[in-house]
Amino acid sequence: MNCIISKQPNAQYRMKENLEFIRNIGFVAHIDAGKTTTTERFLFYTKRIYKIGEVDEGTTTTDWMEQERERGITITSAATYCEWKDYHINIIDTPGHIDFTVEVERSLKVLDGIIVIFCGVGGVEPQSETVWHQADKYNIPRIAFINKLDRDGADFYGVIDEMREKFSTFILPIQIPIYENDKFVGIIDLIKQKAIYYEDELGLVFNYRDVPDFLLDKFRFYRDNLIEKLAELDDEFMHKVIETDNIEEDYIIKILRRNVIKNKVVPILCGSSLRNKGIQPLLDAVCDFLPSPLDLNEIVGFDFDGNSKSIKISKSSPLCALCFKVFTDPFVGKLFYVRIYSGNIKSGSSVYNSRTRSRERISKLVRMHANKQEIIFEASAGDIVCFVGLKDTTTGDTLCDEGFPIILESIRFPEPVISMAIEPKTKADQERLFAALRKLQDEDPSFKVFYNRETGQNIISGMGKLHIEIMVDRLLRTFNVNAKIGKPQVAYKETITKRVESEGKFIHQTGGRGQYGHVVFIVEPIERGLGIVFENKIKGGIIPNEFISSIKEGVIEASSAGVLGGYPVIDVKTTLIDGSYHEVDSSEFAFKTASEYAFKDALRKANPIILEPIMNLEVFVPNEYLSLVIADLNSRRAKILSITEKKNLKVIRADAPLANIFDYADILRNLTQGRSFYTIEPSYYDKVPIELMSKILGL
Ligand code: GDP
Repeated sequence: MNCIISKQPNAQYRMKENLEFIRNIGFVAHIDAGKTTTTERFLFYTKRIYKIGEVDEGTTTTDWMEQERERGITITSAATYCEWKDYHINIIDTPGHIDFTVEVERSLKVLDGIIVIFCGVGGVEPQSETVWHQADKYNIPRIAFINKLDRDGADFYGVIDEMREKFSTFILPIQIPIYENDKFVGIIDLIKQKAIYYEDELGLVFNYRDVPDFLLDKFRFYRDNLIEKLAELDDEFMHKVIETDNIEEDYIIKILRRNVIKNKVVPILCGSSLRNKGIQPLLDAVCDFLPSPLDLNEIVGFDFDGNSKSIKISKSSPLCALCFKVFTDPFVGKLFYVRIYSGNIKSGSSVYNSRTRSRERISKLVRMHANKQEIIFEASAGDIVCFVGLKDTTTGDTLCDEGFPIILESIRFPEPVISMAIEPKTKADQERLFAALRKLQDEDPSFKVFYNRETGQNIISGMGKLHIEIMVDRLLRTFNVNAKIGKPQVAYKETITKRVESEGKFIHQTGGRGQYGHVVFIVEPIERGLGIVFENKIKGGIIPNEFISSIKEGVIEASSAGVLGGYPVIDVKTTLIDGSYHEVDSSEFAFKTASEYAFKDALRKANPIILEPIMNLEVFVPNEYLSLVIADLNSRRAKILSITEKKNLKVIRADAPLANIFDYADILRNLTQGRSFYTIEPSYYDKVPIELMSKILGL
């Protein structure tokens, strides 16, 4: 994997002075819908690359990790950019596999608009639905591209019907496909009222012609539909339609744009990325319909007291940037991916991290093109770039102006559900292993590492088998660590069910300087997903301020292994309410130890329980196997949520404990002779039934 630093700083890059001409977009879709293939075409037609790489040959620009090329899938979000007409487009290509939804979440957080790609044959597949709803959560404007229309069985209109059925936003085709002799040859642009025909294999030459006679009826129907629906959405447009029949192309684009930005409508485009058809109009649509950074108007966060605070989106406003990803490059070191919302930054200058409340220096600024970097000297509002040289910044931190500190809402990450023991093969590997694990953990908040004191094992955990497999592969190959790996297991957690008071003392006073630490806590259960929370409520210097962070550290360390099975503790709040100190004997170590004692004591007293991951399962089965699969799911403690139908298959949605469906691929294959398939994603953590608890604990 070569990582080349451009020798020509700023060579290809001309940041447009006007933020209106920037687009920060991402492709999201089900795995295999064609995101990587489409990104590759974007880069080709905008002349960022001069030869098209193919997923099937392992030569694409954005899938650059060995692990991605071998598997033909996207794992990390790759960042790149291109320039189309007057526009600068930053692109994040996100992974489609459910194990990597964290990558999708964090990209969605910093993007202004997305292109959702659907496969013309597969239609609205489960992962596309998940991503669509994730995008709803962040209220991200979008356009949709129905791809693979060259394939047998592609059904553009069928996919539209399915989208209308599944999604609540207005779905509005602005193109329809042209087939001649069953071959996909071009596209009708309903706004321009012209047919686009591609004349060469590479899709470089295309002509606008009149709509062919055999498609006139269909064209009129969909053109009328476009005008009527826009009139329904927009009063100004409605008045225009009443006044005149002659509505100009630019006016339709303007009205459609403003409704896409309000997320009231999703324009649908079509094509075939592999056959190079429909890409230039898709690039036009990105510029015409998706928001610019300015459309956000202002960025809203909090001040240190938790009050709302906002900054106007402008280069002249104070700096406000969000670090949404950290990646360790073997050549350059840590790359901090940031979205700059406001202000301006130069390489060599400092930024203020509002979480750590400290200043950090940026040694280098780079613009990413997959795994290559181009050095730039300045970056400003609206842009997505990488900072190099930061020491204590992690994913989710806000980097801002010290004179105008702001904290943007951080990204919430789900708890990993599968874990594995990992041990270095030799003593020499030990240090390398821990250093590498720390780096991987910094990069990926859904990958966690902890030491189980009860069993004496180092445990890594992630969002699924594929996720852990890729991480282990990177450890062994990218970081050259020799390690023994255990079998994947369910990642159990522990929590408490009762509010208790507890006390911890670490006092030794036998000659010389002693040790003195003493704390009193209230420890209580909190809402799922909130993790470990610490609050300091003591007043009047009962314990000097300098020891508070050690007390917090003690809680965090003690929470890494619970008192039942040594599993990580989650969703517990600790409030420091009392304690005492000694002028001479008190130390950070003594308070940290006292805090660990108090926390462990509280866990024992507060009715601890074990939590297990519950997965959301969608099983697609032929009708004849339906009752068999349902009976099997019932025997696995699953809760059936719904049974619907899709394309002659029954779709069972269920919540099931991961422990009982760990090898579901094999189970389902045996049950249905390989005629079914399923998708699975982590849903929530739930209490393990009493009768199973002793089994898990080996009692
Ligand atoms: P991703 O997982 O969404 O990034 O999808 P890829 O871009 O990796 O594409 C998945 C597979 O579909 C690859 O084998 C592509 O060559 C193929 N593919 C992508 N676009 C098209 C298309 O328009 N038509 C056909 N027939 N195949 C396509």
